[in-house]
Amino acid sequence: MPPSMETTIRSSIFNPEHETLRASVRAFVERELAPHAEAWEQAGDFPDWVFTKLGDAGYLGLAYPEEVGGQGGDYISTLVLKEEMARCGSGGVGMAVAVQTDMATPPILKYGSPAQIDEYLRPAIKGTKIACLGITEPGAGSDVANIQTLAVRDGSDWVINGRKIFITNGVRAHFCTLVARTNKPAGHHGFSLFLVPTDTPGWTVTKRLDKLGMHSSDTAEIALDDVRLPADALLGVEGEGFAQIMWELQGERLVGVAGSIAGSQRLLEGCIQYAKIGTRSASRSERTKRSRTDWPRWRPRSKPRAR
Ligand SMILES: Cc1cc2nc3c(=O)[nH]c(=O)nc-3n(C[C@H](O)[C@H](O)[C@H](O)COP(=O)(O)OP(=O)(O)OC[C@H]3O[C@@H](n4cnc5c(N)ncnc54)[C@H](O)[C@@H]3O)c2cc1C
Repeated sequence: MPPSMETTIRSSIFNPEHETLRASVRAFVERELAPHAEAWEQAGDFPDWVFTKLGDAGYLGLAYPEEVGGQGGDYISTLVLKEEMARCGSGGVGMAVAVQTDMATPPILKYGSPAQIDEYLRPAIKGTKIACLGITEPGAGSDVANIQTLAVRDGSDWVINGRKIFITNGVRAHFCTLVARTNKPAGHHGFSLFLVPTDTPGWTVTKRLDKLGMHSSDTAEIALDDVRLPADALLGVEGEGFAQIMWELQGERLVGVAGSIAGSQRLLEGCIQYAKIGTRSASRSERTKRSRTDWPRWRPRSKPRAR
């Protein structure tokens, strides 16, 4: 019997508790999400109940402490979630959920006040508030230090102006964890984080972007025009937003890697399964039909030259 991909590629970072979690997430994903995945990808959207259902199951707070409504697990448990979400068959859903659990909300636990935790983190863990993360701008992708969105003080308020792009969950989100400049001459010490409710006047979704894949997750362009926020919208330490968001990106990118590798593994499993059906178990006429319809059409135009 050939070795199973499932058992041979598992890393030693996962302990028996993680494997128990994996089994329960997998059952959830296969029962609740996978049957809809294709339709959601085709429709280019998925319903908000995905967040509340995941929240009810406890999966949006796996690595958050119980005191804030989480499950008290470790970082590896959130990697398990990301790997298993890949099995739902919709990259868009996995992406949207990862933004909720591992991108927009970790800075709230680490840097947020008790009031900010109550207002944003607890409902995000329950799935009743959807989060997005606003870093990228038309001129600032990899180069986060080039962010131009500006937040200036006006009395005790902050007034924010700028543009954000490629913001996952940006259309449906209730709030955004936003990076803005607060002091231009201060270089890397001139950025700050803010928690912005998306119903604040001046916050506009200017476009929902089309993508090559992950169609079901919404990816938005956002305009901020004189978005006025109270002083307590500042998250963490004024001027230290660059270091704070670099801390966040470490966890975010590793979660992205786990999801990408799990998605690739899923594709490979699917290909192997398909090849086996095509070559072994299907009847001759079924194989002939498949070769005429489903199999890739590409063939080399000429035989490769002998070396
Ligand atoms: C589907 C999707 C969802 C996203 N969701 C979000 C989100 O929710 N929130 C958010 O803030 N952003 C989001 N992003 C943006 C994403 O984080 C950025 O696309 C990413 O940071 C890269 O930025 P960029 O696209 O501007 O590429 P660029 O920064 O222009 O980079 C283009 C290429 O050049 C390379 N490069 C860049 N600088 C250098 C350098 N100095 N030296 C060598 N090579 C370099 C890069 O590695 C890359 O290969 C999303 C993007 C996508 C595609």
